[in-house]
Amino acid sequence: MTGYEQNKQRLVRQIRAQGRNIRLDKRTSNLFRDREPRPETRLDVSAFNHVIKVDGDNEWVEVEGMATFQDLVHATLTHGVMPAVVPQLKSITIGGAVAGIGIESTSFKHGLVHENVLEMEVLTGNGDIITCTPDNEHRDLYLGFPNSYGTLGYVLKLKVRTIPVKRFVKLQHHQYQDADSYFDDVDRWTQKDIDFMDGTAFSPTELYLSIGTFIDEAPFTSDYTFENIYYRSIRDKRVDYLTTHDYIWRWDTDWFWCSKNVFAQHPLIRRIYGRSRLNSVFYTQLMRWNAKYGVTQFARRLTGTYGETVIQDVDIPIQRASEFLEYFDREIGIRPVWICPFKAASRDQGFSLYATDPEMVYVNFGFWDVVRGHEKRPEGFFNRKVEAKVEELGGIKSLYSDSFYTRDKFWELYNKSAYDALKTKYDNSGRFKDLYQKCVQRQ
Ligand SMILES: Cc1cc2nc3c(=O)[nH]c(=O)nc-3n(C[C@H](O)[C@H](O)[C@H](O)COP(=O)(O)OP(=O)(O)OC[C@H]3O[C@@H](n4cnc5c(N)ncnc54)[C@H](O)[C@@H]3O)c2cc1C
Repeated sequence: MTGYEQNKQRLVRQIRAQGRNIRLDKRTSNLFRDREPRPETRLDVSAFNHVIKVDGDNEWVEVEGMATFQDLVHATLTHGVMPAVVPQLKSITIGGAVAGIGIESTSFKHGLVHENVLEMEVLTGNGDIITCTPDNEHRDLYLGFPNSYGTLGYVLKLKVRTIPVKRFVKLQHHQYQDADSYFDDVDRWTQKDIDFMDGTAFSPTELYLSIGTFIDEAPFTSDYTFENIYYRSIRDKRVDYLTTHDYIWRWDTDWFWCSKNVFAQHPLIRRIYGRSRLNSVFYTQLMRWNAKYGVTQFARRLTGTYGETVIQDVDIPIQRASEFLEYFDREIGIRPVWICPFKAASRDQGFSLYATDPEMVYVNFGFWDVVRGHEKRPEGFFNRKVEAKVEELGGIKSLYSDSFYTRDKFWELYNKSAYDALKTKYDNSGRFKDLYQKCVQRQ
């Protein structure tokens, strides 16, 4: 029996012996909603972190569910390929990106992470191991797994599509002064023969679209893994060159721009931290330490200010994208905002819990900061505004962070009937919490 088979049998025995309130136990997480402390059983899945096989010729990789994208990218690049969509943070796991919703600058071409899954082996709440594909008898689980956040089962092994790479990426940063012409161009670029596209909005009148293409030779390469900061370079350079590896991880060194919250953008502090600590895993540890000991809250009390954390990724149909950004600037005001267009890789989709129109281009807006002020607001004041606007514009919101929907509204938006059918079939005794309990009630 292989190590994978042995670990799988152990997990099946473990889950069948457990009652309810099971929780995933692994070393890292990119989940940004705090849980209410309560008794729970932890299922240790940390052994499922291997890349099993890379088949560069047939463009797929077989990988265990808790393997990080850092390891997955390392393994695939040595075979001249990369996963079709690689989320920006090194510690995101392939299972987490499929159960949540993973996106990156190839998504205008290859869709979201889960659209590139060819096959999955899932440990369900019933304690069974099930193989699901787009066209076998467990197609319902294949289509319902994205956005289920570990409430139906845990994916232990997957076969995922890869794409061929070249050694370097040429980047061109195009500047715009208004959102309308910006999103017109985003739409146009989705039709062109390029490899990567994402954007950064620094202010309502300063937006950049970063277009990337694979190339074999580069006149020079930039390094944003220590003293230089990638997001600042977007304003300063019109053309840039990175190795493909460094392009893939360009956002991780400074957690997009969120490293400012731990003072890592100050040259001296940056040197004190050192190159090896400039990454999203270290910053997440610092932020969790801060949350535990209430350092920022203490500082706010001293200065008489209030703050609400607004960490969200939302997807808006491109026709309404500039309307969203205009509203966001006026009502929330966080800057910069990350912008990433995506379009379904195939028209024959039908993902039930995160349904988007396969004919439409969407724009993902990512914003991760605190809205500060001197006025005390009701809990979730700004996050609720975002939720309402996303709904009004026909968009959809990721659930990795805080949500404030009522139960009825939540199930209207996230397909209650499909979810109930999946829950009854694959977790009939309710070993896992349901999606509303987990994502909104933070249980
Ligand atoms: C600041 C910030 C920025 C982000 N930016 C991006 C981004 O730009 N692009 C992007 O794609 N994503 C982004 N994310 C979201 C991230 O991809 C999701 O939160 C993802 O689910 C995290 O995966 P993880 O492996 O870290 O899982 P965890 O954080 O450990 O878990 C996330 C959820 O997935 C479930 N889960 C984890 N592994 C499995 C599994 N094997 N099977 C079933 N369920 C599982 C867990 O139970 C949990 O509910 C961002 C998140 C944050 C906090």
